Parts: sequence; structure tokens; C-alpha cells
Amino acid sequence: MLKGKTALVTGSTSGIGLAIARALAQQGANVVLNGFGDAEAPQQEIAALGVEVAYHGADMSQPTQIEDMMKFAASRFGRVDVLVNNAGIQHVAKVEDFPVERWDAIIAINLTSAFHTTRLAIPAMRAANWGRIVNIASAHGLVASAQKSAYVAAKHGIVGFTKSAALELATTGVTCNAICPGWVLTPLVQKQIDDRAAREGISLAQAQTDLLGEKQPSLQFTTVDQLGGLAVFLCSPAADQVRGVAWQVDGGWTAQ
Ligand code: NAD
Repeated sequence: MLKGKTALVTGSTSGIGLAIARALAQQGANVVLNGFGDAEAPQQEIAALGVEVAYHGADMSQPTQIEDMMKFAASRFGRVDVLVNNAGIQHVAKVEDFPVERWDAIIAINLTSAFHTTRLAIPAMRAANWGRIVNIASAHGLVASAQKSAYVAAKHGIVGFTKSAALELATTGVTCNAICPGWVLTPLVQKQIDDRAAREGISLAQAQTDLLGEKQPSLQFTTVDQLGGLAVFLCSPAADQVRGVAWQVDGGWTAQ
């Protein structure tokens, strides 16, 4: 379905981003990976699917590095057809204790980076009259939790940004949508489980059960492959008129 198209997925060396990159590659898309840590194994995994793969290590908190990454993708593949804004970090603390530097980093990485990639991707998408922008928001883009003020603000922000961009692009073949996962067992959430177990003196298994029980009525994690499947759907012709949605994949979290 996506043969000959190029997908750029931010924060795709791990977790949800890597699974979405894999799902898009399985549809034939060439892929530009981004993110920290080991980039070799993810590149090999995607290349094994028979598509072209490239990697750029831009730090999503740095607009000049984002510009460099977008230029790199255009020079390597011509243009970005599918942009997945996925890179994200978390920090948990009360507002009055929240480190100012962590607030700034979360807003920069989880929200502002999507503005930069999107503004730089749109001209070529408009010229081709086809494009898909998929923003990985969160259940926290729709509802809040205590001690996550920066994350909740950034995720609510990206849902709003998604709607605004979708409206600007409404008469074109370029769509912009958000995906709002509930709990997904990735390193980002494992850290919260580890912290909870240490804080409350309980086992990791108990911390995991408590975490799910608090928010996610299905009592099951959303899987990264389920999110990959939804990203593929949003790239399909069936989703041509899906515009500006914030689509929950949260086991019922936000239905409550
Ligand atoms: P993860 O920690 O497994 O992956 C995050 C990715 O972002 C990694 O590749 C990391 O290297 C990259 N990254 C972090 N900071 C970066 C930076 N400054 N520049 C470039 N790349 C950077 O986390 P994940 O759970 O896969 O999260 C991916 C996205 O999904 C995030 O936006 C997160 O908020 C969102 N999300 C996650 C969950 C969940 O339960 N795991 C739920 C809802 C939303």
C-alpha cells in the first residue's frame, strides 16, 4: 500500500515508534528512523523487510537539528510522505516541585518538535497532494492525571495542534490525525512501574496490576503492534476523510 512512499518516524529506536516504523515498512514504505540509543539493530530490522532505511539522530528538543533531519530525509528520499510525530518523554512530580528544565524539555520534545517537523513536511505534501501526519498523543491528551502537568499540557497541546493543522489541510490530500494510547508496556512506562514498586515497597507484578487497575478498564496493556495497525489504517485510502481526530486506543480509559 505504501510502496514508493517515505515515512519518517521520530523517536523510533524503541517502543511505539519502532513498531509503527515496522508496520509502515511492512506496507512497503521506506523509513527514516530517529531517536537515541542503539540505532543499528532497528535499522537492520527494518531493512530486513525489503525497504530502504536511513537514520538521523536529531535531538527533538533542538529546532536546528530537526531542520537538518528534514533536509536529510528530503535529500535521501525526495520527500517525506508519512510523518509520525512520536518522540516523547515523561517526568512525574507535583507542579510546585516540577524541575523547570524537565518542563521545558517535555514541551519541546512532546509538542514543539511536531510543529517543526510538520511545518517543514507540509510544503512537499501539498505539492504532491498526498500526505499523512500522525501525531502520537495519549489518553493524557484528553484527560489528566496528577503529577504529570507538563506531559498532560503537551499532549493536550498536540491534540489541538492536530485539529488546527487538519483544518488548514482539509481541502488537500494531506490528513493530520492523532492517536491516543492508554498504557503501553514500553521503557517509558516500565520506569513508572519500577518507581511505583520502589516507592510503595511492592512487587513489580503488583505495581503493574495496580497501574492498569487505576486507569485502564480492560486491565490489559495496549500493544505497540495495535498502534502500528492504526497508523497503517490512517495511511490507507479508507482514512482519506479521517481528519483531525484524536483516536483512543486505551482499553476504555477515557470512556469513564
Ligand atoms: P520509549 O521511551 O520506548 O521511546 C521513546 C523514543 O523517543 C525513543 O526512541 C527515544 O530515543 C526517543 N526520544 C526521546 N527523547 C528524544 C529526543 N530528545 N530526540 C529524539 N528522540 C527522542 O517511549 P514510548 O512509550 O514508545 O513512547 C512513544 C510515544 O508514545 C511518546 O510520545 C509517548 O508520550 C507516547 N505514549 C506512550 C504511552 C505508553 O504507555 N508507553 C502511552 C501514551 C502515549
